[in-house]
Amino acid sequence: MEEKFSFALVTFGCQMNKSRSEHLSYLFLKEGFLEAQEEEEADVIVFNTCAVREHAVAKALGVISHLYHANLAKKGKPPTIVLCGCMGELLREKLLERIPYVNVLTGTHDFDSIPHLVREAITKGERRISFSSPPQMPFLEQGYKREGRFSAYLPITYGCDNFCSYCVVPYTTGPQRSKPRELVLEELAGILGEGFREVTLLGQNVNTYGKDFGKPHAFEELLEGIERRFGKEKVWIRFITSHPRDMRRGIVEIVRGSRIFCPYFHLPLQAGSSRILHLMNRGYTKEQYLDIALFIREHIPEATIGTDIIVGFPTETDADFTETLEVVEKVQFEIAYTYAYSPRPRTKAAEFEDDVPQEVKKKRLAVLSAALRGAYFSRLSFHEGRETEVLLVEERKGLFLGRTRENLNVIVYPKEGLQLGDFCTVRLARNFEGKLVGNVKEC
Ligand code: SAH
Ligand code: SF4
Repeated sequence: MEEKFSFALVTFGCQMNKSRSEHLSYLFLKEGFLEAQEEEEADVIVFNTCAVREHAVAKALGVISHLYHANLAKKGKPPTIVLCGCMGELLREKLLERIPYVNVLTGTHDFDSIPHLVREAITKGERRISFSSPPQMPFLEQGYKREGRFSAYLPITYGCDNFCSYCVVPYTTGPQRSKPRELVLEELAGILGEGFREVTLLGQNVNTYGKDFGKPHAFEELLEGIERRFGKEKVWIRFITSHPRDMRRGIVEIVRGSRIFCPYFHLPLQAGSSRILHLMNRGYTKEQYLDIALFIREHIPEATIGTDIIVGFPTETDADFTETLEVVEKVQFEIAYTYAYSPRPRTKAAEFEDDVPQEVKKKRLAVLSAALRGAYFSRLSFHEGRETEVLLVEERKGLFLGRTRENLNVIVYPKEGLQLGDFCTVRLARNFEGKLVGNVKEC
């Protein structure tokens, strides 16, 4: 009988990586591996990495070294180390200089063969390296061992061909490939059958779903297809990420008229100055961004808008940065992720001089955080007093943590009969710390 090995998976980076790790778990289990209780005890540790910022790479190298040595110290023999994902794809064999004990090295296009490569590396005692080209076909990935109990990811595209000038993702994941609509619907049916309450459709730019099949508005058709088939189910469906250039009013209309699609739009601004946006190759101006964001505000007043912002892109002046602050003030984002620009290998922007000093980037990040906090608190006065639906997703220190339909985090005080995974109607208020609280009306 074949020896059973245990595996642990460590994931860095975005939701897409989390979802790919769920696929990888499924593949390992299918191949007869067992899930380890802890990384320190696993026979095989798999690192699914991120390369989007230099910081992510440095962090991963630290974690890999720590876990390798902790496992070695505990078990007295070295674990089999797998490095896959974007960092592998980008840095390839160069990584072996930094982590010479890697046994299996791949990028983003060989996930299906990883369990097999691991078995070979173990039985033959040899390192396995595999880098395939991006497949020229639709995205057919299927099978996930899902981590969450109530929320599930469903990737609808993989890869990206937008080539924003700062971004390494098109180089690490290849061109966009979409999952055929029938497959998305079939997977969604499976997810609902398993009792999940919330599903997030994933893609680097979901709005261009189907463009690779030559269909420019396939995303709307996909949403309409989902609405027709599942519109009466008790489920919440979200999608991320929307690219402001491709975010069409029709998509907002579909969400507005739906019970299942949640009014949350992740619409990364990146920068407020049209000059910088042009240098970033984002394909929209500040005015076009405001046009679609304010259209959402007007047509779905309760909608939440999330964003990503980069400060300190090459040549960004104080005046350019002030334009970012203006957009923050006008849109009043409820959710925001902010980053200091870092040059990435192979990207267009890496050819520009990284001329905004580190201290200036830090200062702009601090100013931006304060502006975002201020805008968020003004926006909260809109949400306060509203009735909305909450999904109870976590229990902590005797309280429930919930997420509203609009993707706001709220604290919910326990009440008889309430349990995790319940949907309830609450009235939103703010507690003494300014955090959102949901007072339960009914479940
Ligand atoms: N596809 C998504 C997210 C891609 S990566 C989108 O288009 O928005 C997530 C975020 O990382 C980006 O939105 C961007 O804000 C940030 N990012 C990407 N490359 C970066 C870089 N070189 N320096 C700093 N931030 C970066
Ligand atoms: Fe990167 Fe732009 Fe693609 Fe997003 S859309 S992954 S920022 S290239």
